[in-house]
Amino acid sequence: MFNQIQLPYAYDALEPHIDALTMETHYSKHHAAYTKNLNDAAQKAGVADKDISLLLSSLDQISDEALRKAIRNNGGGFYNHNLYFGTMSPNGGGEPDGDLKAALDQAFGSFSDFKDKLSGLAAGQFGSGWGWLSSDRNGKLILSSSPNQDNPLMEGNGHVPLLGIDVWEHAYYLKYKNLRADYIKAFFEVVDWNAVAANYANVLKG
Ligand code: MN
Repeated sequence: MFNQIQLPYAYDALEPHIDALTMETHYSKHHAAYTKNLNDAAQKAGVADKDISLLLSSLDQISDEALRKAIRNNGGGFYNHNLYFGTMSPNGGGEPDGDLKAALDQAFGSFSDFKDKLSGLAAGQFGSGWGWLSSDRNGKLILSSSPNQDNPLMEGNGHVPLLGIDVWEHAYYLKYKNLRADYIKAFFEVVDWNAVAANYANVLKG
């Protein structure tokens, strides 16, 4: 049984950057539906007790094509949104420090260069999808984007997502309409860098 994370803040807590109605719809409708559909498909495929990261890293082990597709889409939606909602905070924004800051500087030159590059990837993702900051097994940071509810776990190269920007229109359209770049800018105002650093520390721990 896969469970949505409990939001550690109220639906309106990220105002004015992310509006309350978008948060409520996103969490209680979209994310809830991905989670229900994942649980249904995982039960049918006999993988309901698997770790979600392992499941998404080994989708080719699901032999039934329809179930594999359902678990890719809904398992991705489940995992991606747990990460997304868990790395935002009303006390977010600013810049990271410590190991994460050092690794960002090393990989991208500076925090500002990192932010520009990730924002560009997220803004440039055609249609629905995600922009990602991930780490490889050695702690090297990588940026990417993906369509639909895909994520770096599915690429099978050991990259673990630390932060994902949801650029489906459901994540921003009520407030930002077609202005995806404005939403991405606002998203950075609520990123919980402590949570992202904790995700990074988990990768480094192995
Ligand atoms: Mn979403």
